Amino acid sequence: MERRCHMKKILAFCLAAAMVLGGCSKGTENTEGETALTVVTSFYPVYLLAANVTDGVEGVTLKNMTQPQTGCLHDYELTTEDMKTLEGADVLFINGLGMESFMDKVMGQYPDLFIVDTSTGSVTLEGDDHGHAHEGEEEGEEEVNAHIWLNPSNGVKQAEVICDALSQADPTNADKYAANTATFAESMESVIAQAEAINAAPGTEVAVFHEGFPYLTDLCGLEVGVGIYADENEEPSAKEMAEAAEEIKEDGIKLLLAADDAGMKYAETLAAETGATVVELNPITSGELNKDVYRLGMERNLQILADALS
Ligand SMILES: [Zn+2]
Repeated sequence: MERRCHMKKILAFCLAAAMVLGGCSKGTENTEGETALTVVTSFYPVYLLAANVTDGVEGVTLKNMTQPQTGCLHDYELTTEDMKTLEGADVLFINGLGMESFMDKVMGQYPDLFIVDTSTGSVTLEGDDHGHAHEGEEEGEEEVNAHIWLNPSNGVKQAEVICDALSQADPTNADKYAANTATFAESMESVIAQAEAINAAPGTEVAVFHEGFPYLTDLCGLEVGVGIYADENEEPSAKEMAEAAEEIKEDGIKLLLAADDAGMKYAETLAAETGATVVELNPITSGELNKDVYRLGMERNLQILADALS
């Protein structure tokens, strides 16, 4: 997998961030002069990262805009409940890289909302060009893989962006945000070491059934030989499945990495056809609203991968 920074996009985000920073909300002060800051995240993984940064900081209310079982936001539409949550927000943290494309339509309704794109500085992988265009994209246009949180180094970068923005909105607690972020970064060092220890044999290929998993495989030195990405609105064609089965057999792919979602049945079908094994991993897009779930999910994924490869 090729790593590349999409400088043009990052620059565009920086400019957008600079624009929204102009209208930066400083939170409101209560009668004791303490900050009361309402921090909202767009979806689950961003919530977990923000929860690590804001852990134990008084006066901060952290809310996730979408229901924790929503999953990725690719085809999401805002609900009236979400809009209410946004109205009360001082800061909104988004994943960025197109994950929250639904925000483009409604941005004008929240002129005072401080929107922060947490993808700034993350290392991105190329998106999968599987012949279909998402809304607003040209067919075949190269896209960036937005599932950056599945690389713990990116998770740390996202937490740092959150920390910087909160320190600006709430300077009184800047030291606390910084200390929390440092603790989080330190905990990710052992996760990164766990991934590096997997050290797959060069050229080991796997098949992936969730668009986020290339960030995990890249981390462990695995190559994506086959990628089949399905969701509620989209399923692989019979031709795609036949080609995938062929490649799995030809390339000697043993592991089919799938999440407990729409992609699972395709992994199971291909496992039955090829004799390869389905390995279930967690894309960390839904679950408990608990800051430790990010680290625990990563550790568990890496343990499962290490066991499957041994
Ligand atoms: Zn996704």
